[in-house]
Amino acid sequence: MTRFERLRKEALEACQWRGHTMRLSRHTVLGRRVRGTWYCTVCDASMAVDTHPDPNGIDIIGDAVAVECQECPPDEDSLEDPEWKG
Ligand SMILES: [Zn+2]
Repeated sequence: MTRFERLRKEALEACQWRGHTMRLSRHTVLGRRVRGTWYCTVCDASMAVDTHPDPNGIDIIGDAVAVECQECPPDEDSLEDPEWKG
């Protein structure tokens, strides 16, 4: 199992545990550095995996691994800029 596969498995399990239904959005390979981005088809939460993050970065990041899935996000979420998801 590659580092990316291990991270992906770990990250997707964390998302699944929070009730998200994750779908692959983007997969990027830059030499040895592999990055993947997923989003939840229900609540649109995102999650990303990076095999070689910057020195101050982390290999698994995203709100999908931090918050529970919700079909109807609370009103305060709608005030946030939706563009950040890229
Ligand atoms: Zn979700």
